[in-house]
Formats: sequence, C-alpha cells, structure tokens
Amino acid sequence: MEVIESVRRMQERAEALRAQGKTIALVPTMGYLHEAHLELMRIGRRHADTLIISIFVNPIQFGPTEDFERYPRDPEADLKKAESVGVDIVFMPGVEDMYPEGFQTTVSVRKLTKHLCGLSRPGHFDGVCTVVAKLFNITKPHIAVFGQKDYQQLAVISRMVMDLNMDIQIIGAPIIREPDGLAMSSRNAYLSEKERTSALSLKKSLDLAQEMFWQGERDAQKIRDEMVKLIQSYPDTEIDYVSICDPITLEEVSELGDGTLVALAVWIGRTRLIDNKVIEVQDTNS
Ligand code: AMP
Repeated sequence: MEVIESVRRMQERAEALRAQGKTIALVPTMGYLHEAHLELMRIGRRHADTLIISIFVNPIQFGPTEDFERYPRDPEADLKKAESVGVDIVFMPGVEDMYPEGFQTTVSVRKLTKHLCGLSRPGHFDGVCTVVAKLFNITKPHIAVFGQKDYQQLAVISRMVMDLNMDIQIIGAPIIREPDGLAMSSRNAYLSEKERTSALSLKKSLDLAQEMFWQGERDAQKIRDEMVKLIQSYPDTEIDYVSICDPITLEEVSELGDGTLVALAVWIGRTRLIDNKVIEVQDTNS
C-alpha cells in the first residue's frame, strides 16, 4: 500500500494509472476509520483495478463553532485498517497543500443544500463540494463511493457531478450500524456511556416512523410528532431537525409514501449525530 501526501505526486500517480488503462475507485474519508468506511472500501475494491482512499479532515466544511479541532484522528490505525481491505493508495494531504494561500474558489449546489443539514450548517456543503471536486481532480477516479448515512451529501455530490459533467460514477453505499442499531460514525467516539444510550433514540425514532407507516399512518406531522416525543424521552437530547421529505428534492412532504425519506439530526450532549431511513412498503412475502 502506498501513502501519498503531496497533491502533485498524487496527480502524477493517478495520471500514470490512467495511462496504463487502469480504472480507479476513490473513497473519500475524514479518517478515524471504522467498519462502515471499510465497507465503502470493499465496494470500491470490487468496482475498479486501483482503490484510492483519501484521509483529510477538511477545515472548510466545518463552521467556526464546530468540532474541526477536536475531530478524532488516528492515522496509524487508519493505515492498518486500509491495508486490511486491500487499499492500493492512501492520499493524505496537508491542509496547506489543499488550500494554499490565495485559494478562493467554491463549488456550490444551490437548492439541495437549502434543506436538512444545510439549514443548521451554513456553508457546510460548499466546503464538501469544493473538497470533493478537488479530490476528484487530484485522484482522477472513474468511480467514487459515498455512504447513504450522509444522505444529503450523497444527493448533493451526485447533483454536482451531473451539473458539472464530471465523468465519474457515484455509488451510494448502505448505512452500516452497530449491533444495537446506532449508525457508525467517527463522532460516536465523543459519546459517554450515558449519551451512547440516548444516541439510540435516532434509529428507534426512524423505526417508529417505518412502523407507523406500516400501520397505515400517512400524515407526516403525526409521525414527526411521535418521533420527537420518542427522542425527547431520552436524556441529553436536543433535536436539530426531523424531516420527512422527498428523496430527490429533499423538500418536506405532508404525506408519506413508498420511498419517502425520513432524516434527522440530534444533539446528544455536545455531539451532533445524523441518521435517516427511506420508507419501504411492507414485504408481503415475509
Ligand atoms: P466521514 O469520514 O465521516 O466523512 O465519512 C466518509 C464516508 O463514509 C462518507 O461517504 C460517509 O457517508 C461514509 N459513512 C460514514 N459512516 C457511515 C455509515 N455508518 N454507513 C455508511 N456510510 C458511512
């Protein structure tokens, strides 16, 4: 496994791979790798000759009061985990190399970012799109894998790729959870034991929405009210949003149907967690 820290070197390497006719898969991450990241890498591995991952905690996607400084980092452990799933190249640039003095260009997806996390994290998706566009230009992938846990991020990046004619196939990977249902996240490391229990309220409220839908409830407001009640019954929870929305436009809907997206962000103490579920019709065969 190769580790490349320089933007220029990474570009030359990617260009050489392409010249040899190799296909490239990219999995962008912010490191502190867990099983969900590794699953994305396994998917990438299956789709291309060369698997590149990036590890970069991107300062421009964090707001001034957010956790950029304290975001967990463990590059040594990350390299071991990456190697264990057959990563070929780890691209780990420095902040100065990615954002040299004079940097001033932003990629902005206008409408999809007006909902969900875009409301409470102004500028976040501009930061995400800008760094992902840069990573695409540096690693020159044919495909890139993103997790559905960050549903809006996947939607925004897919839109950017379409709108800017980037010749890259975007693959969405299913949400990977802990055995008790908590969606895996590097930020779970912040949780105390008590907060860890409260964090289960996210998945439980999504399950409740699905269950109510199966029981015949279609009214988004009623389902949202019950989800809010459930979350608030756990200590140290503060809801940022519970959104029941169209899975393509992310605009709120008043009635649920097959494929409606239920997405939420909840503060558990000082940690903001997100999760989501696409509502399914009941499988009558089971
Ligand atoms: P991050 O390091 O948190 O920026 O995540 C890197 C990639 O892993 C993103 O595409 C995330 O959507 C994805 N990811 C993180 N956690 C999960 C999860 N629990 N299930 C699926 N994908 C995930």
